[in-house]
Amino acid sequence: MLPFNRPTLIVVLALVAVIFGLRQWGSAPPEEIRKSRILMDTVVEITVFGSPSLPLQESVDAAFKEMERIEALTSFFEEKSDLSRLRGDAGFEVSPETAAIITTGLEIAAASGGAFDMTLGRLKNIWQIEGDQPRLPQPEEIQEALSGSGFGALVLEGRRLVRRAPETRIDLGGIAKGYAIDCAIAVLKKAGIEHAAVNAGGDIRMLGDRRGQPWRIAIQHPRQPNRYLGRLLVRDVAVVTSGDYERFFEKDGIRYHHLFDPRTGYPATASQSVTVLADKAVLADALATAVFVLGPKEGIALLDKFPGTEGMIVGADGTPVYTPGFGKLIEWHGN
Ligand code: ADP
Ligand code: MG
Repeated sequence: MLPFNRPTLIVVLALVAVIFGLRQWGSAPPEEIRKSRILMDTVVEITVFGSPSLPLQESVDAAFKEMERIEALTSFFEEKSDLSRLRGDAGFEVSPETAAIITTGLEIAAASGGAFDMTLGRLKNIWQIEGDQPRLPQPEEIQEALSGSGFGALVLEGRRLVRRAPETRIDLGGIAKGYAIDCAIAVLKKAGIEHAAVNAGGDIRMLGDRRGQPWRIAIQHPRQPNRYLGRLLVRDVAVVTSGDYERFFEKDGIRYHHLFDPRTGYPATASQSVTVLADKAVLADALATAVFVLGPKEGIALLDKFPGTEGMIVGADGTPVYTPGFGKLIEWHGN
């Protein structure tokens, strides 16, 4: 026996169909919001797609605010930052955010045999690659600036950050941007947004897909500014690129850029550019810097230690090598 007689059932089904139809008909097409701001020394662009019933504008503004907060926390020059406090006593408690960044950074430092190094603050300072007046320091100056840096120079005991030597200067430039991107994505997700991209100067994390299609991310040719090597077709992933063409100066035909080899104190020479894919931008960011320093062979070996990551290294001679998974996601640009 049915709980309803037949006419009642038909009426109920018809009502369900009408309500469902009305909902479909009533839901407006997804709206797209795109905004950009200068943050963390670069242009940050946030794109979101979603139903107009979602707080799209407010969420994008909140995501920018969150990135500003992380920038202030991790910059050496901000009064209230964790890093500026390191000038004083040897050990102190850092914010949970700084602790999270440093934990990932130390993990990559260990896995890369020290190629990723968050204690190159003094070295960065003498080169001034990203400043108005970059300079080629004397070899003795470089050696001096390397003291207090390297493996074991920085230790995190819970949330207490301890440095081995008083001259140690932390620089989170190789990782903080990735972390800030993840925090922006977290804000958007919390607001119910399911499709978004946060792009900080080419370091990108995507949430979901782009209107049912993969996002298309062009990979810059490291030596030809108007060309791209290929396009990645991806969704729900972070794509971060580190290149020697981003911030550099040239002297006597030699390119000096902002990615240092901690072993020498000079810009790393094994790669032209590195692109890394990972679920989190913080991991992709630190790995891209580390892999850049290591170069093609050791770089691929480092990526192999992190399941779920993929990547490509354009070596010093311009030849790209990449993981099998990366090869499946890229559409090469024809010559
Ligand atoms: P960008 O910030 O230009 O996207 P990266 O993420 O690769 O590029 O970070 C570069 C920054 O990382 C440098 O400006 C410097 O602050 C820092 N850095 C340079 N060399 C190293 C290194 N070997 N390990 C960790 N951080 C580094
Ligand atoms: Mg990096």
